[in-house]
Amino acid sequence: MAGEPQDDCLFCKIVAGHIPATLVRETETTVAFRDINPQAPTHVLVIPKVHHPDAAALAAAEPAIAADVLREAGEVARDEKLESYRVVFNTGSGAGQTVFHAHAHVIGGRGMQWPPG
Ligand code: AMP
Ligand code: ZN
Repeated sequence: MAGEPQDDCLFCKIVAGHIPATLVRETETTVAFRDINPQAPTHVLVIPKVHHPDAAALAAAEPAIAADVLREAGEVARDEKLESYRVVFNTGSGAGQTVFHAHAHVIGGRGMQWPPG
């Protein structure tokens, strides 16, 4: 069923505590943890505890939780004292998505290019 934990999902395993992660924040509906392969001085992933394959699917099925993810992205930036930062939702393998459980990348602490690569 939509939103249910998936046995083969890395981020569902992190939510369940079966795979360790460096948690920086947790709410009733979300978890935030440091990316294992950081692309900037701050690189934190914010995920919903429920499983949806990408951000748009999450927003369609559970809009309040999508809002929680966005608010938590802002709270991570505040905790990390980032004046400027980027929130990225890679969607689809062609855009670099490798984990098909919705997640926001919160990236900051260095200069950034626009347009992105
Ligand atoms: P994406 O490529 O947008 O799907 O993002 C997935 C992110 O998860 C990548 O930036 C990975 O470095 C990160 N990642 C993969 N495995 C782990 C892990 N065990 N703990 C923390 N981050 C991870
Ligand atoms: Zn999952």
